[in-house]
Amino acid sequence: MEKLIDPFARPISYLRVSVTDRCDFRCVYCMSENMSFLPKKELLTLEELDRLCSGFVRMGVEKLRITGGEPLVRRNILTFFRAMTRHLDSGALKELTLTTNGSQLEKFAQPLFDAGVRRVNISADTLDADKFAQITRWGRLPQVLRGIEAAQNAGLRVKLNAVALRGFNEDELLSMTEWCAARDMDLTWIEVMPMGDIGNEDRLDQYWKLTDLRARLAEHYTLTDLPESTGGPARYVRIEETGQKVGFITPLSHNFCESCNRVRLTCTGELFMCLGQEDNADLRSALRNHPGSDAPLEAAIRDAIRHKPRGHDFDYSRQTVDGRVSRHMSHTGG
Ligand code: SAM
Ligand code: SF4
Repeated sequence: MEKLIDPFARPISYLRVSVTDRCDFRCVYCMSENMSFLPKKELLTLEELDRLCSGFVRMGVEKLRITGGEPLVRRNILTFFRAMTRHLDSGALKELTLTTNGSQLEKFAQPLFDAGVRRVNISADTLDADKFAQITRWGRLPQVLRGIEAAQNAGLRVKLNAVALRGFNEDELLSMTEWCAARDMDLTWIEVMPMGDIGNEDRLDQYWKLTDLRARLAEHYTLTDLPESTGGPARYVRIEETGQKVGFITPLSHNFCESCNRVRLTCTGELFMCLGQEDNADLRSALRNHPGSDAPLEAAIRDAIRHKPRGHDFDYSRQTVDGRVSRHMSHTGG
């Protein structure tokens, strides 16, 4: 089947899928404390997720990242992971992975490994238990640490994701780097993004520029730029002293849109062609109106990809949060 190529000649090989908008944490930059969630009938069923992802795999998607909300709180989510194993076995899918807050990994690490998952991204912005409870509101650090340990024991390669927050985890830059190095884990820092309406927090106050973070790392370590890119807004360095990789995800202060290879599916079946744009295509209707045939779905996917924009419109530079998108990160998936 013909592969998906967008109007700017970018092959679409990477799909991020949000499988739920729900979460057992309430991170302050992501959700308000009293979120209202979608009614169940709005969500794609596990069977619909399978049809959709399988369609994308037929059209050239080689990497699936499952996210949310918290993907591991979706009921029976292992059924979906196990269903995707067949695409790994056939060789069409090269990688099946997820981004998780780690809270459920003690239970899920081994079954995920058995389904073919080999790497996970686990989010933790601090290694201080009090600060962890403060930033996640409902999360507890020891549970996540047990999840990380379970993941490593199961054979999963773990990368820690941390949102860089001025005045919050600046003081942990070196200790987190060393904690990860001691456990053979890579670490990626994420710039805070203006997503959703999450109450009174002023995101400009929390914004910690990753060029500053990197400069501070460089005062302590020898950093070597790595040429590799996964087609997203992340760039990597190796710390020569520890051998670990450190990533910087900077969708705001840098623009790597020209090599973008990805699209994002929300838990309700909207396909977002760009994290920073509102344009989306409704794939759920194509699924639900045609239960017996995938041809309309494939046509809807191709049509959507024809509308993938050249790049995003986030902009902090004018000191207002311009280009803000109104949806929550937990809806589109990070
Ligand atoms: N619940 C899972 C987790 O926390 O890893 C997966 C979904 S979460 C939306 C994915 C990533 O997005 C997490 O690493 C989280 O820290 C990040 N994130 C959430 N809101 C963000 C924001 N406003 N700016 C930058 N990153 C954000
Ligand atoms: Fe939940 Fe992840 Fe959002 Fe935190 S960042 S509230 S863990 S979805």
